Amino acid sequence: MTTVTVRTPAKINLGLSVGPPRADGYHPVATVYQAISLYDEVKARPAPEGVFTISLTGEGRDVVPLDDANLAVQAAMLLAKTFEVPDGAALSVHKTIAVAGGLAGGSTNAAAALVACDALWGLGASRDELAGLAAQLGSDVPFCLTGGTALGSGRGETVSRVLARGSYEWVLAYAEGGLETTDVYAELDRLREDFVVEPPEVSEELMSALRAGDAYALGPALYNDLQDAALRLRPALARTLALGEEYGALGFLIAGSGPTCLFLVAGEDHAVDLAVALSGSGLCRSIQRASGPVPGARLIT
Ligand code: ATP
Repeated sequence: MTTVTVRTPAKINLGLSVGPPRADGYHPVATVYQAISLYDEVKARPAPEGVFTISLTGEGRDVVPLDDANLAVQAAMLLAKTFEVPDGAALSVHKTIAVAGGLAGGSTNAAAALVACDALWGLGASRDELAGLAAQLGSDVPFCLTGGTALGSGRGETVSRVLARGSYEWVLAYAEGGLETTDVYAELDRLREDFVVEPPEVSEELMSALRAGDAYALGPALYNDLQDAALRLRPALARTLALGEEYGALGFLIAGSGPTCLFLVAGEDHAVDLAVALSGSGLCRSIQRASGPVPGARLIT
């Protein structure tokens, strides 16, 4: 029996600027994405027409939906409908990426399912065709296809390459439980009620650090407009960030809509020091290390 396996990375936002909500309710963003070396794996096997199933191992087994609400299933169904495929797919996901952690776990599974089912069904869809479907599935899905370091605009679904050099070492601290992206955006709107909100823009300081490939310049240039809102919803995260600062992180911030905390470190020894301190602090559920940028969706078999 044919099985196709695709690996996709987690995403982080090195910079995330959020504008006022649009008429359709979405917030326009200007973001710099980076794909990091934490991967989920999606396997696709043949199934009869109209049958789409999913099973899951690893992170989030108790919380991720195992029906049509799963983003990977939605991706497979959308691809089948678009290309009028007379087959279904049996998907299995192995998750390393925390669920609802601000790391685009669901989006990256959707990107993987698009690439896996395209190969399973022998469609030969172009990257542009897949990117168009990805944008319908979610704001972060197109970036999860391409990976690397890239600019995201619109609601994040319009992805373009940036001139970026260097490789960066990250330590990630997972909190207990997740934060729903919609709740964090709603909190941001509440915090901004009495202010005029400017259109989103990418920071020149961040771009210049990336052009130089300089981790020491990148650290202080990291920013996230969702951070205050995430901290309002989960005040304890401030202590995790403060611990990273105490241990000399070059930069630290909440990942996307949180609650994962992200620390940029100077190298291997520094990563180990910080990871040990965070583990011993009792402030987080678990710690992972990763580097970036890495490529997006990749067919393994
Ligand atoms: P983002 O950063 O893209 O906003 P996130 O990383 O914070 O998202 P996800 O891990 O994508 O969060 O999970 C968000 C929601 O999507 C959860 O409530 C989860 O149950 C649901 N979901 C649907 N499909 C998946 C999937 N394949 N993997 C993980 N979560 C999924």
